[in-house]
Amino acid sequence: MKITQLEVFVIGDGPDIDPDKGGVEPIACIRVHTSEGLTGLSEVFRIPPGVVQATVGDRDSFFGRLLIGQEVTHPERLWQHVWDSLMHTNRRGWEIIILGALDVAIWDLYGKMLGQPVWKLLGGVQRGVFQSTVGSEVEIVPYCTLVSDTWGGEAMISQQVSRAETLASLGYRAFKVEPMMSTPADVVELARRCRTCIGEDLTLMVDVGYLFNDVSTAVQVCRELEPLNIAFFETPFPVDTPEPYAKLAARTSIPLAMGEHGVTRWEFLDMMDRGGVSVIQPYMTTCGGLTEAKRIVELAVARGVQVCPGNWSTQILGAASVHLAAYSPVTPFIEFAPAEVFESPLRRELQAAGFPVENGAIKLPKHPGIGYELPEEILNSFRM
Ligand SMILES: [Mg+2]
Repeated sequence: MKITQLEVFVIGDGPDIDPDKGGVEPIACIRVHTSEGLTGLSEVFRIPPGVVQATVGDRDSFFGRLLIGQEVTHPERLWQHVWDSLMHTNRRGWEIIILGALDVAIWDLYGKMLGQPVWKLLGGVQRGVFQSTVGSEVEIVPYCTLVSDTWGGEAMISQQVSRAETLASLGYRAFKVEPMMSTPADVVELARRCRTCIGEDLTLMVDVGYLFNDVSTAVQVCRELEPLNIAFFETPFPVDTPEPYAKLAARTSIPLAMGEHGVTRWEFLDMMDRGGVSVIQPYMTTCGGLTEAKRIVELAVARGVQVCPGNWSTQILGAASVHLAAYSPVTPFIEFAPAEVFESPLRRELQAAGFPVENGAIKLPKHPGIGYELPEEILNSFRM
């Protein structure tokens, strides 16, 4: 079976729905076609769709010349073939994020070719049921990322807390508040009110979105958050130097998290070894694909670090996170942007077409490949 075509299409909620309020921004999707008619699907988060359209296409395109005509074999061979061919280019940024999306689509294809779900091909489940949060079987637990229409102050706090309350009543088990562009007092108050709202048994995380420039302010905030049982504190500082993370990690008991924009295992090594970060958050496409995410899990296991895949995108990408989480022994949670509380028709439809969340968890997928089939009606209604 050979790769014959790389198709790109763009979907989105359209200009009337604000991505900062939960809408889906225009997002390129890739479908890899083969000589036997099997296809593989992925989306490409945070790369301008025009860049994807300009570089992924027929035999003359940047990626087409590397992949069209290739035999479909283990995705790691195809990843390595592309990577080696890019050795004299930038090896980071859009180039590797698009390689990551192609890799996810190729895993989808490879699973379909072998009639196996991707998590089994990654190595099968490598943790026991006692490592699941509840229940008697291994399952994948999404944590809900909460945003609000405004940042800072009472409007942000009450909207995020009320969203947590709604989602907890639907059975979700874990929540991440997002006090972006807020004062230290607002950060602590939002976490405190959310903890009171969801009770002691559910999981709470805090993401401040690169809010601080100095370690001592972040240490003070963490000191006040410590009694609230916070599962992790995400991106307190800009990410280009890991040293402030290491200094904060030495002075708080709250695990620090980063990595949503991390590209390749080499950046994650830096976060863990120089930054002292104990939760890393690769996106399954951005990091370089499922092939690279598996390598990142192996590096994390050797360091006792958790891998909680990031995904502030749709459930096309979320489906790939589910397969990594099924395999990974260090993944208690995956990120999830819950369509139930955001004004986004596309997010809602893509979630409804994905793996169901029941009693706050997702069952191990059974379908061959990634197992996300994009309904034609969604494509027709939201194509841009
Ligand atoms: Mg974040």
